[in-house]
Amino acid sequence: MKKGAIVLAMASVLYGAASCSPQPATNAEGEQFEWVVDTFDDIRVLRYQVPGFEKLPLEQKELIYYLSQAALCGRDILFDQNFKYNLAIRRTLEAIYTNYDGDRTVPEWKSFEKYLKKVWFANGIHHHYSNDKFLPEFSESYFDTLLAAVPADLLPEEYGSVEELAATIKPAMFDPSLYAVGVNQAAGADMIRTSAMNYYEGVSQQEAEQFYADMAVAGDPEPVSYGLNSQLVKRNGKIYERVWKVGGMYSPAIEQIVYWLDKAAGVASPAQRETLEALISFYKSGDLAEYDRFNILWVKDTTSTVDFVNGFTETYGDPLGYKGSWEALVNYKDMEATRRTEIISANAQWFENHSPIQDKYKKREVKGISAKVIDAAMLGGDCYPSTPTGINLPNADWIRKEHGSKSVTIQNIFNAYSESNRSTGTTEEFTLRAEDRERIRLYGSLAENIHIALHECLGHGSGQLAPGVKGDELRQYGATLEEARADLFALYYLADPKMIELGLLPNAEASKATYATYISNGLVTQLSRIALGKDVEEAHMRNRKLIAEWAYELGHADNVIEKVTDNGKTYFVVNDFAKLRDIFGHMLREIQRIKSEGDFVAGRDLVERYGVKINPALHAEVIERYSKLDIKPYTGFINPVYVPVMKGGEIVDITCEYPETYTEQMLRYSSEYSFLPSKN
Ligand code: ZN
Repeated sequence: MKKGAIVLAMASVLYGAASCSPQPATNAEGEQFEWVVDTFDDIRVLRYQVPGFEKLPLEQKELIYYLSQAALCGRDILFDQNFKYNLAIRRTLEAIYTNYDGDRTVPEWKSFEKYLKKVWFANGIHHHYSNDKFLPEFSESYFDTLLAAVPADLLPEEYGSVEELAATIKPAMFDPSLYAVGVNQAAGADMIRTSAMNYYEGVSQQEAEQFYADMAVAGDPEPVSYGLNSQLVKRNGKIYERVWKVGGMYSPAIEQIVYWLDKAAGVASPAQRETLEALISFYKSGDLAEYDRFNILWVKDTTSTVDFVNGFTETYGDPLGYKGSWEALVNYKDMEATRRTEIISANAQWFENHSPIQDKYKKREVKGISAKVIDAAMLGGDCYPSTPTGINLPNADWIRKEHGSKSVTIQNIFNAYSESNRSTGTTEEFTLRAEDRERIRLYGSLAENIHIALHECLGHGSGQLAPGVKGDELRQYGATLEEARADLFALYYLADPKMIELGLLPNAEASKATYATYISNGLVTQLSRIALGKDVEEAHMRNRKLIAEWAYELGHADNVIEKVTDNGKTYFVVNDFAKLRDIFGHMLREIQRIKSEGDFVAGRDLVERYGVKINPALHAEVIERYSKLDIKPYTGFINPVYVPVMKGGEIVDITCEYPETYTEQMLRYSSEYSFLPSKN
């Protein structure tokens, strides 16, 4: 999973800011689904829904259950990978937290609790996103008092005495100059010695680089991911790898992972069993060739309902980019969303034929991409609590080239982001008219999902180039114009009666929710994400501004989009949805022409005129309005609990429940899924 996906998730906070569910989301008891379970510091913690789980056949539920157990067993690995004292610190804090019998409302205790919540969230003492160490907001002497009240046998024992433990973890927690950065990628300094991460011990950057340069085989077309599953250490002058495998480093946790993967293999299809067995073999041997064999089997399996990520995967935690942080994700096919993309793809030719672009630029034969859409069932390791909204794996370039890759959106995580934004007041702040807000409430989320499906399944693949045009003529404007083309295709068809005929949208009102949001976002809301005085740079943001601004101008004579100032606040309101659709069609025709003919000058002029520059007064106003909303920049999730229903020693069903708070879940994970010593 690329961390880029996490950034995308944050973008969606705004883009989907006004999105809501077609019906109020409810749980099994028919109560309103509570999205937000906790907020602290710069973080909010959500729950995600697990739609359709109860309808899955028993073997699929069992598979999810076993894979979920495997997904939770590696949590300690990540803590230790991030920093060598993280486990000792977490356990000490937890021992204090659970044994404290003082007043839990006093400010210092609140600061202590906040710090512990942050440590859980970051899987350590460095911020999950910035990588900077965060400091406690309580004093060292307060910590001493708390520590002194805990019976010694409840504290980590690997440091000998409580005094030794305190002497080890206190400087790490409180001294701002020590272990200040988790992953240092600033050029110049020794990136290993100046980073707190625990992927290397006693080696310099130069020694590590030399070690892996010597290991690589020159010209190998299928190189293994050198160094991915080990800590590199220098002891007694000797440099060697401590491999993460059964019998190696992190063995107690890996043994548990293997135990549950083995259970999963027992209920999997023959093809998926082979995939799981390859992964088990990798965990047992530590052989990176086995890891590649697993990835090739995994990427070939595109049909299983239940799928997973489990292993040492992303290398962002290592400044040199060799070491994989442990992560896990269990997912299953979203039947409803996948059905939508299948309907859209099955009608690809109809859409192409009826597109408002010139006939000569239409594809004679067009095939839609039938994208699989998934829902997360369990997040673990580096996917928990902060998680991406998509998967794009495997990472090995040669496997991607030879065998392909899986690139999928995690629908329920994406939905949780947009649904939960209701509570932030963004829709109220930036949507003037009550009828627009009501349509957004009723149809926003559904119409937005269809918009994305049209954009991805058809929009990018539509149209063809004129003879002799290569496709790279638009140069630095190409990406923005390509996104605009796909978005306009989607916007144009969203309001087509065909959408209702195909059963994708319930009525003609639904598309109006997206139209209103899109215009308002492109012209106003998205400006909050850009620093005052800066231009719009990112291609998707430029595209949205280009479309909204250009449509505003094209419809000016007919007052299609109206700029309204109310109470000193600026709004852009759609007055005529039918005319706006015609304008989108006209714009699509022109942008397709620009792409098909490689008309660089026309493309550049559009982007520069409508997509880049921001009115400074409006920009300042939007930032001011946005800053008053209660929005946390970072989001994470707690997991549901899967409970086997037993009858005569057999699992007859599995239920999915959400009984816990954030703190309860973290404490339970620390007691039930904690397999490693505090010193590894
Ligand atoms: Zn796109």
